Amino acid sequence: MGESHYDKAIELCKSGENFINELKKRHIEELHRYKEAGIKKVEILTAGPGNSCEECYKLHGKVLTIEEALKTMPLPVRGCNMDVFGVEKGFCRCGYVADL
Ligand SMILES: [Zn+2]
Repeated sequence: MGESHYDKAIELCKSGENFINELKKRHIEELHRYKEAGIKKVEILTAGPGNSCEECYKLHGKVLTIEEALKTMPLPVRGCNMDVFGVEKGFCRCGYVADL
């Protein structure tokens, strides 16, 4: 549960369809969950050096408020050029973690 949008995005990506909206929904849901849990700030985590593209890695460790994150939607990273499934670039695997 909760990661259904991510699973859907994977399916779409593998079949060559547009997956960006599912990744967006995933992050929006996640941010709302944190908000409901009383969390104020989140930190961006990438797959790490060597495993994330340079565009994504620029955001590694960035801390922002949930309001900012919902407003600016830094994830999925627009310039992401990761080709996770060998089909299409841009499958951004970055995520938010609660900044406590
Ligand atoms: Zn990314």
